[in-house]
Amino acid sequence: MHEAKKGVPLHVKVLLGLILGAVAGWVVQQQFGPKHPDVAWWISEVFDPLGTLFLKLIYMVIVPLLFSALTLGIMELGGAKKLGRIGMRALLFTVILSGTAVGLAVIGTNLVQPGKGFSEAQRIDLTERFGDSTKAEDSVKKASEQKGVIRTIVDFVPSNPVESAGAPNLGGVLQFMVFAVFFGIALATIDAQTAAPVKAVMEGIFGASQRLIEIAMMVAPIGVFALIFKTTATLGLEAFAALGKYAALVLILLAIHLFVTYSVVLKVFAKRNPLEFFRQVRVVILTAFSTSSSNATLPTALRSSNEDLKIPREIGNFVMTVGATANQNGTALFEGVTVLFLAQLFGITLSLGEQFTVIGLAILAGIGTAGVPGGSWPMIAAILVQVNVPPAAIALCIGIDRILDMSRTVVNVVGDMTIAACVAKSEGLVIGEPATAT
Ligand code: ASP
Repeated sequence: MHEAKKGVPLHVKVLLGLILGAVAGWVVQQQFGPKHPDVAWWISEVFDPLGTLFLKLIYMVIVPLLFSALTLGIMELGGAKKLGRIGMRALLFTVILSGTAVGLAVIGTNLVQPGKGFSEAQRIDLTERFGDSTKAEDSVKKASEQKGVIRTIVDFVPSNPVESAGAPNLGGVLQFMVFAVFFGIALATIDAQTAAPVKAVMEGIFGASQRLIEIAMMVAPIGVFALIFKTTATLGLEAFAALGKYAALVLILLAIHLFVTYSVVLKVFAKRNPLEFFRQVRVVILTAFSTSSSNATLPTALRSSNEDLKIPREIGNFVMTVGATANQNGTALFEGVTVLFLAQLFGITLSLGEQFTVIGLAILAGIGTAGVPGGSWPMIAAILVQVNVPPAAIALCIGIDRILDMSRTVVNVVGDMTIAACVAKSEGLVIGEPATAT
């Protein structure tokens, strides 16, 4: 993100929007309660449209940005061989980091037992008061459409990429990315002269997409204010108190993964100073936190990886674009905690074998979750079915999800940047050297 040359830098304005919006929403919530009709009017007529407008300005750039970033990245990598090597390295880091995240979730939830001690009556009462059954039913419906592994892999390949691009929140992004990867490989392996004009066009699309994001980010402080105002004004603080142990556990484990696991990996594999790294990606952290969407944060993350972390564009473009959907550590961690929490709440004891099933499924679910707000829920419903917990139970947690979603999205996106830094290092990038042409 280009910051204003003069005056207050953009990330400070975004941070101000975030803090002011949170405080204003909280004050309104305290004064009027979360369901007051005037508050509801302001939210539905003013804040919701403003927040949605900001998100749409970003979302509309995702398809051209993703396509140009991936095809350019792959062309610059020089085709399938190098791509395969980098892809395998990125996948290895993804599995290690997601495995650690879910491991943390299982240990933490078994130690703290946030779901123990609720009576049946309390559970029903909590769900009735705070639950969001419409959203839960939606997720359960999507989960029931889940298919076996082979079918899932076959479905990653689109028969019509244009159609996939039109349904980014329904798994279409992953399909569209598969098409872009194949297209990039094809371009990298045909005659260079034939490919040259397409490459030039992609450069233009990539540049214009970046510019569009800069324009969208100009209204980010207002958009962020509106999004966070809505969250804190409508957040059931009572629900938070009731589910406080669960929510606190999720936040603490996410913080451990973000600051401890990533720091160790950054130090050991990327040979970077973690503190410096976190400082460099602060705008990305703010964007992920305020949008709750890895996809919406992708443009900012791509720019920051190239400009701030000095990761060569071909590596950053490929690793982070794929990672925005396929590497979601925070989500994997969250899914692990939530499944075990709900099992405890329903008094269902999971055997060691079943806990391992949860670990495996949460790692896979982290790969398959769409990078959009609330993308986790259909996956969680699907895992719950596997371990015999009623999937509609998610209604209870969805009520307080937004703040947890904002936090896990930060962990997801910083995870992509961490992996990109490690892969870049393993490819021999000297830190501090200017990145390849932008
Ligand atoms: N909001 C998350 C993301 O975009 C996905 C999720 O866990 O719901 O990364």
